[in-house]
Amino acid sequence: MNYDTYGSSAVELAIDLANAELETPEGVESFLTTHGEWFTPGTSLRLSDRDGARVASTGRLVRAVAVATTEEQVIERLNELLTAARPRPYATAHDGALHLHYARPDAPALEQLTTTVAMGLSQVVVQHGWQRLGVCSAEGCDNVYVDTSRNASRRYCSNTCASRSTVAAYRARQKG
Ligand SMILES: [Zn+2]
Ligand SMILES: [Zn+2]
Repeated sequence: MNYDTYGSSAVELAIDLANAELETPEGVESFLTTHGEWFTPGTSLRLSDRDGARVASTGRLVRAVAVATTEEQVIERLNELLTAARPRPYATAHDGALHLHYARPDAPALEQLTTTVAMGLSQVVVQHGWQRLGVCSAEGCDNVYVDTSRNASRRYCSNTCASRSTVAAYRARQKG
């Protein structure tokens, strides 16, 4: 998987969104500000309560795609997510490298976010397969992840969960 392209990193934004706490306006605002590099400079990141609720529902849709167990489910859920996207490809070199953005640069924050997330997730799924998305195997963690490893062997959302599970398995062996 080419990890340097905007499409691949946009899927990370989608995964972050699915794993974020978005039930309160503060949660949504904090997600937007910690991912501020995804928005055109000057974009207002203060959303109405209604738009904040839409951000949360986009996060739930991304999760629904990631936990789907059949291709048919993935297609259905991806299409639901894509109905909220308003893609307008836009070439830019704002970071020094020429690349495409999916949303128009003057779109409101909600539109930039929804479009980038929906297009980024869809690109990765159609190019690399829907099995690349999954739920963390660590006990007590239900974060979703995208598997960018060469041999598609990922099982955990983070290194923290991976090492926590290794330690737990080791202790269980010692006991047994
Ligand atoms: Zn960019
Ligand atoms: Zn985890």
